[in-house]
Amino acid sequence: MEHAEQIYQRLVEICGERNVLRDEPMKNHTLVRIGGKADFLVWPETYEQVIEVLRLKEEYGLPFTLLGNGSNVIIRDGGLRGIVMQLKHLNRIWREGNNVIAQSGADIKAVSRFALEQHLTGLEFACGIPGSVGGAIMMNAGAYGGEVKDVLDHVKVATLSGELKTLKNEELELGYRTSIISRTHDIVLEVVFALRPGDYAQIKAKMDDLTFQRESKQPLEYPSVGSVFKRPPGYFAGKLIQDSGLQGKGFGGAEVSTKHAGFIINKNNATAADYIATIEMVRKTVKEKFGVDLELEVKIIGEE
Ligand SMILES: Cc1cc2nc3c(=O)[nH]c(=O)nc-3n(C[C@H](O)[C@H](O)[C@H](O)COP(=O)(O)OP(=O)(O)OC[C@H]3O[C@@H](n4cnc5c(N)ncnc54)[C@H](O)[C@@H]3O)c2cc1C
Repeated sequence: MEHAEQIYQRLVEICGERNVLRDEPMKNHTLVRIGGKADFLVWPETYEQVIEVLRLKEEYGLPFTLLGNGSNVIIRDGGLRGIVMQLKHLNRIWREGNNVIAQSGADIKAVSRFALEQHLTGLEFACGIPGSVGGAIMMNAGAYGGEVKDVLDHVKVATLSGELKTLKNEELELGYRTSIISRTHDIVLEVVFALRPGDYAQIKAKMDDLTFQRESKQPLEYPSVGSVFKRPPGYFAGKLIQDSGLQGKGFGGAEVSTKHAGFIINKNNATAADYIATIEMVRKTVKEKFGVDLELEVKIIGEE
């Protein structure tokens, strides 16, 4: 890569040496434990550093990828060129009135727990979602009848060119596992959730119940991306895959879970190629057997 050393030095000046990794295997940073190397992986500690990194990528015309907890991405084996940014150090959570405010690198699970401790209701649905707050906004994450859209007031974002903006719930076009961010690629920095006072014991009971349901149905003992496919209108992806007889099948180290057919697990050091081949096999079989097109919920990024 042209100017690689110069770019590295500039990133170190902005974020500090401990927060800049070179040629970093991204399988260390995705929950499914898959992903080739990133040229540069950076972890800014302040919003100013985020903006400065964005300016640097503009200056050098570098490709740029933003990741949260890496719980909903498959990074191909060739990895990611240019700069990959994660906001894991921007993880503060606090309360103002009945609002809970979180920086986008916080775990959405931690925000859900914080709301419980504050006796605030509305975020119980998020107690088992393993993403960051930013990823949860981008995906309009949801579970068991609740979704981000129900409790979001507004977000602060940086545009890709480094401009700061506030976007209200209605401006975010939050839909089923999607938002306007998938088109604008804005970077969510801070999120305000509007919650209501609630009863601690009731909130906790609901969270315990959802955790029990999740643990009994999902193969959480293996790395995965959660549900690989969106729910097709009128069907359940998992049921279609189960009825196609695909559980336990796959390529290389990737396998359709025998516990929940909507999950493809990384059973044994799967590569992205194994995982993607398994996805394609599932889509083809379900299309042939039931005529249903399965749309991906997971994002597949990076080079072959
Ligand atoms: C075991 C398991 C269970 C799951 N259960 C659920 C569930 O019940 N419900 C559900 O909705 N999802 C579920 N998921 C999927 C996943 O956790 C969610 O989609 C989550 O919101 C993704 O967040 P993330 O931070 O990991 O994002 P990543 O996977 O890192 O990124 C996903 C997308 O979000 C973007 N993004 C990340 N951070 C930001 C930011 N700050 N600003 C703008 N864009 C950003 C990325 O660019 C990327 O396009 C599950 C996943 C697993 C592994």
